[in-house]
Amino acid sequence: MATDEMKCQKCGGTNFRRVTDEWMRRSIPWTAEGAMRQCEKCGEKHFTCPKCFNLLTRVNITNVRVMKSTCPNCGYQHPNIQAWLQEQRG
Ligand SMILES: [Zn+2]
Ligand SMILES: [Zn+2]
Repeated sequence: MATDEMKCQKCGGTNFRRVTDEWMRRSIPWTAEGAMRQCEKCGEKHFTCPKCFNLLTRVNITNVRVMKSTCPNCGYQHPNIQAWLQEQRG
């Protein structure tokens, strides 16, 4: 069932701070389209869903396979993330 509580997709932590990562914006253009939140506990960055504002996916350039294009909370599929992931995986 969907929940409004934000949970880190890596460690399960529930405290986040909003971050702006210029380097990431240059390497991953779609991260500039929405809010990025960083887990206070493990430091993992997440992209915020434009539909439900919960966490859509982890953003981890060194571990692309943990990233996904569909929001686990509302089911929204982000076309730009999907296209980007397809490119990364070749
Ligand atoms: Zn975490
Ligand atoms: Zn969503």
